[in-house]
This record gives sequence, C-alpha cells and structure tokens, in this order.
Amino acid sequence: MKKMNIVLFGPPGAGKGTQSKFLMERYGLEHLSTGDLLRAEIHAETPLGLQAQELMSAGELVPDDVVVGMIRNRLQDNPKSKGFIFDGFPRTRAQAEALDATLVKLGSGITVMLALEVEEEELVKRLLGRGATSGRPDDKSEEVVRKRIREYENKTAPLKEYYEGQGKLRRINGMGSIADITARLMKAIDG
Ligand code: ADP
Repeated sequence: MKKMNIVLFGPPGAGKGTQSKFLMERYGLEHLSTGDLLRAEIHAETPLGLQAQELMSAGELVPDDVVVGMIRNRLQDNPKSKGFIFDGFPRTRAQAEALDATLVKLGSGITVMLALEVEEEELVKRLLGRGATSGRPDDKSEEVVRKRIREYENKTAPLKEYYEGQGKLRRINGMGSIADITARLMKAIDG
C-alpha cells in the first residue's frame, strides 16, 4: 500500500491541530506537529528546548536544522506507519526541500498539501481566545500573535507556490464550524 503523507498547512490559529486529530483517526496516520515536539523539549528543559523557547515566545521561527532534525528522526523511527500528517511543518522553503529529500530516501513523498485559509482578524480572535485558557505563552499577547501571522505571511505562505508547482496544493476554506471544515478536508483527500 502506498503511504499517504499530508501537509496540513495554514496560518497560526487556522485549526491545524484540531483537524489533525480527525484526519489521524479517519485515515490511520501519525500526527507530526513541530510545535508540539518543540513544546515537549521545552517542558523537558533540554538544551534544544531552551534555545527554542526564546524564539517561540517572541513569535519567531526556530532554525531550520532544529526542526528538520526532529522530523527526520520521527520519520526514521516509524517506517511501518501508513503515512503522516505534517502540522506546522514545513514552514520555510529549506524545510520543504529537506522534507522532500528525506521522503524520497524513504521511498515515499508528499501526497497532498491541504491549505486552510482563514481571515486575519478571525485568527487573532481564535489565538487570543485559546491563550486565555491554554497556558501557551505565545497565545497571550496580541503583539506576539500578530508577529507570528507576519512570519507566516513572509516565510511560510510562499510554500503554497512550491506545492502548487508539484500539482499538490488544495485550498480549503477554513472559516465556519469545525465539522464543516473536517468534511471539506476529507472531500479533498478522497476526491
Ligand atoms: P501555531 O501554528 O499556532 O503558530 P505551533 O505550535 O505550530 O503553533 O508553533 C508554535 C511556534 O513554534 C512557532 O511560532 C515557532 O516559533 C515554532 N515552530 C513550530 N514549527 C516550526 C517550524 N517548522 N519551523 C520553525 N519554527 C517552528
């Protein structure tokens, strides 16, 4: 069976983590979130976590080699999986190229990029709402939230063109109810 590897793409607050859970269950995929992996390093107070913490709390990206190394380890450790959902990765052109190279070495590749599209003011509302309860420091300040959205627009959004060039981009309306958005994602995968 061919593996299914999905890049679940979109700005901070687009709902990638929420939707990943439904897609994992439906398709039996492993969820790989670089944000979650980095927060685990911070929690464990590793040297990598200490380095990442400062950048994350400022709303800036952590260095490519850090996240690429983490993802490479997970891919190599899970050779039998049916496929992966990449959430929050890749975020730069260098990360996308490194991911392609690693997958090729493992005899697979990206199946599809599902790009959730959400208006900026809705993103800010969702993130500050989450910050009120989640304990994520980067969701508490409007300044940091807007900085993350700008980082996304400058460094990450251009990756849509990278995947479009490979014929893999599917744009998904990320406004509306969680269930409606899940249905749109599944339709894009199954179609
Ligand atoms: P969100 O999508 O809501 O911004 P994440 O949990 O995906 O939340 O990411 C939180 C922070 O972790 C980012 O703002 C960034 O500092 C860092 N980060 C996560 N993934 C990457 C990545 N692929 N490259 C660089 N930095 C990353």
